[in-house]
Amino acid sequence: MIPGVRLVILGKQGAGKGTQCVRLARHYVVPHISTGDMFRAAAKSGTPFGERARQFMEAGELIPDEVVIGLVRERLDQRDTRDRGYILDGFPRTVHQAEELDKFGGVELVIDLEVPTEVVLERLASRRVCVDCGTNYSLSGPPRVDWICDVCGGEVIQRKDDTEDAILRRLDLYEEQTAPLISWYLQKGLLVTVDGLGHPDQVHARMIRAVDHWRARHQPQ
Ligand code: AMP
Repeated sequence: MIPGVRLVILGKQGAGKGTQCVRLARHYVVPHISTGDMFRAAAKSGTPFGERARQFMEAGELIPDEVVIGLVRERLDQRDTRDRGYILDGFPRTVHQAEELDKFGGVELVIDLEVPTEVVLERLASRRVCVDCGTNYSLSGPPRVDWICDVCGGEVIQRKDDTEDAILRRLDLYEEQTAPLISWYLQKGLLVTVDGLGHPDQVHARMIRAVDHWRARHQPQ
């Protein structure tokens, strides 16, 4: 049986986390847990909770820690994640969130997907996403038919928080709140950096290699 994994993927908006996390989840047969996708689904449902989440997201602001932590705690307590693990995408985003995640136990490895800011700015301006399943496309890599998702037939649009102002705000918040996580996990000896430039297939192969090397060095034979 394919062994599961418990991975956290860090990286600026537009580093390719979403695309890579979907592939990693398929590779290791574990759930892909994206807090951004969870909040977008809540926003679409139009509940008062979803409506509040939408306001934070559209402004490019972070949702309060306690809300996000509660949501992730519930998800990690489900059977699939308890049994096989997870790929965490977009969480933790603050040191406080990381401390709480530590209490739920057992992150195996944190991968920082590294891409220069100029490149992520270009990627974000061109990014398009399926409103239903979240599959990512770009102006240079659109779906086959007229902005209709290849995977589920949903509408493919530009995210409301991919405007220039919201992008700059999110990148500022990344530097301020999320970049410190890199040294936090480095100190714990849990971090590896993977180059996020190049074709998604190449980046995927690098990430798998990083996990394999890590396991070879850290797991008893
Ligand atoms: P993402 O798709 O990961 O870029 O997330 C989209 C938006 O969801 C973010 O800009 C935040 O408003 C919110 N969000 C997602 N994950 C978190 C988190 N861990 N902490 C706070 N807010 C989050």
